[in-house]
Parts: sequence; C-alpha cells; structure tokens
Amino acid sequence: MKVKKLSDLKLESTRVILRCDLNVPIKNGVILDDGRIVASIPTIRKLLAANCSIVIIAHLGRPKGERNLEMSLAPVAIRLSQWLGVAVEFSSEITGQSGKCRKLKPGQILLLENIRFEAAETSKDQAEREKLAIELSNYGDVYVGDGFGAVHRKHASVYELANLLPHAAGDLVSAEIKVLEGLTSEPIRPYAVILGGAKVSDKIAVISNLLDKVDLIAVGGGMVFTFLAAQGKQIGKSLVEPELFEVVQKLLIRAKELGVRILLPTDILVGAEFSDKTSAVLVSADEIPVDSMGLDIGVESAKNFAQEIVKCKTVFWNGPMGVFEFENFAGGTKAIAQALTEVSGLSVVGGGDSAAAVRKLGFKDDSFGYISTGGGASLEYLEGKELPGLLALS
Ligand code: AMP
Repeated sequence: MKVKKLSDLKLESTRVILRCDLNVPIKNGVILDDGRIVASIPTIRKLLAANCSIVIIAHLGRPKGERNLEMSLAPVAIRLSQWLGVAVEFSSEITGQSGKCRKLKPGQILLLENIRFEAAETSKDQAEREKLAIELSNYGDVYVGDGFGAVHRKHASVYELANLLPHAAGDLVSAEIKVLEGLTSEPIRPYAVILGGAKVSDKIAVISNLLDKVDLIAVGGGMVFTFLAAQGKQIGKSLVEPELFEVVQKLLIRAKELGVRILLPTDILVGAEFSDKTSAVLVSADEIPVDSMGLDIGVESAKNFAQEIVKCKTVFWNGPMGVFEFENFAGGTKAIAQALTEVSGLSVVGGGDSAAAVRKLGFKDDSFGYISTGGGASLEYLEGKELPGLLALS
C-alpha cells in the first residue's frame, strides 16, 4: 500500500491535525507502559521543527461513545509534554473547539480528549462519522495520520477526516508499513510466525493467509487448546472455541500439504483456577487433567520453540504464550521474547499488548528488530486486508 509521506506535504508553518495512537494501559490514572506515546514523538518533533501548530486527536480504550473519565487522555497530555519538553494543552471538550484550535500559534500543541467519547467516531453510520469529521476538519489545514494502532478501523478521525484535507502518513505509520511490507513480500527465509494470546478466532485468518508464505508457525497461549482439542486431546478447563475445530483441522491438513510446520506445545503449565495465586503444575499436552486449565506452555515446549525461532531469519510474534500477567505463568512468554532477541535476521514484535508484555518482563525495545505499535492493525495487514486508515492516506 503506497501512502503519502510527510515529505509530500507542505508543512512549514501549517496548522496540522495529527491522529496519533496514544492508547496506553492506564490504571488509576497511572500510565503502565508509555511505548505508544514514545513512538509518537518523532513525528510530533518533526512538525514542531517545521513551525506547525498541532491539534492531536487520539483514543483510549473502548468507552463506547460515552464520557468515562477512567479512559481520559488527561494523564497522556502530561506524559507527552514530559517527553517533548514543551507544554501540551489539553481540551476536555472535543467538538466546538475550532476557535481554540485557530488560536494556536506555531509550536503550540493541543491534545483533544478521547475521541471515542464521541459516539460518531466509531458509528456504523457513515453519515454520522462524516458529520463529526467535517466538524474536526475545521481544526487545521492538513491531516497527518500517525495512529498505526487504529488504521484498521473505519472511524471518523481515521478515515473520513483524512479524506477531507490534504493528508499524509506520519513517520511512525510509514515505518510500520515498511516493516510489514518486508514481512509479506520476499521475507528472508526461514520465516517463522509465532502466535499466542487468548483467542483463535482473532488469529485464524492471519494463520490461514500466511500458510503459503512462512516455513513455520508456532502456536501458544489460550488459543493453543482449540488446536489440541481439535486433535482429540483432553484439555480440562482450558480456554476453547469448539466452533473452530473444523477450521483448525482443515488448516492443519493444508499446512501439511504445503510443507509448513505447525509447532504446538508438547507440555503445558496448568493451574486449578484462573488466578495469580494458583500454583503451576507441569503436565504433558496429551494429559491435561480434567480439573485443571492450561495457563502457559511448558518448559520443554518453550525450549523447543526457542530453538526453532533462533534458527530463523525473519520472525513475527503476536500474543503471549501464557497468562504472563501471573508470575507463575510468565515463563513461556519470557522464553520466546528471549529467543526473539537472539534472532540474527529481522524480529518483529507485533502489537501494543505484546510490546507491553515484553517490557513488563524486563526486555528493552532495542533488543528486537522492530516493535509494532498496532496488534490488530499489523495482523490485519498480514491477513492481506485493505486497511481503511491506510487507504485514506494513499
Ligand atoms: P490477545 O489480546 O489475544 O493477544 O490476548 C492476550 C491475553 O491472552 C493476555 O492477557 C493473556 O493473559 C491471555 N492468555 C494467554 N494465554 C492464556 C491461556 N492459556 N489461558 C487464558 N488466557 C491466556
């Protein structure tokens, strides 16, 4: 997908509307991981250097069109200002702000409150989204799309707004596309994709689309139990999506035909319940007790996965191998993260949540080839889907 670049826009002394992805995990007003804020800084700095005034539009969580102060961007304005070393004004109002935006001088930044407090932002009704986009288009003269984590959404500030103004992708979005293009067109082999996380339904399409492009797919996380159960194994109380058994069975057959190896865990760490207090017991993947649930891949599996990963020249990873939030079940995810840092070719951690997981486990960003800020967006790109936010910037 060819998108317009910042260099295609006349930026000097322009009033810019910048769509960022500042969707960071926040608990009780405290930012737990500011990776997405940090990733947004280079484009903002570039705009400041070009004497632009900047109105930033961003979202946080899923407030479903209602004002929910637990999902306010106010703490983000403070953190953004700390990183930039300049003041970031915050507007708790979203609509009716064109007067305020017009008064911004070159070098001034205004961050609007969570755009998803406006029901029209995510509305299925195009006319509603257009109405909000028209209102927002008065806030500046050009549109820069840099919120990679939202480009797979046909939302007013991502799609319709971009269409109303001269537009270009910010440097973050351009960098993300470059990496994803590298993963889809002629990746250096062997090429491995590692998928984990909660649900197969979220990732089955990407597995299916990547089958003829990769050499190896390793599966972990909650989604692995649907694979095991589809092969007739006992999975106890583990997470499962029985409606996908047939899809998974067909996928395994196709993989075999194509000569793609699907790596599944051979041992599992189980617990009696979904709790950080539950103790971890190591069992064979063939013999998960009926009263237990699988919460991480086992030690042998982690070792096997890691051994295969380090041999590859291109590796994409999305989704934790287990419930890494519980100390007893973080080992699998940690082992895979470690293996990625040892890959001699391109290693990509895909997604804000996966990125937050590796940081929480103590890994540094620069240990990996690239950390993508968008999980859903990068998966949909790899699925081969057309992403509305990129289409609008093309
Ligand atoms: P996702 O957003 O689909 O990447 O899923 C991430 C979530 O999957 C994390 O919060 C993990 O706790 C969860 N997860 C990983 N492994 C398991 C598992 N075995 N059982 C339940 N949840 C899991």
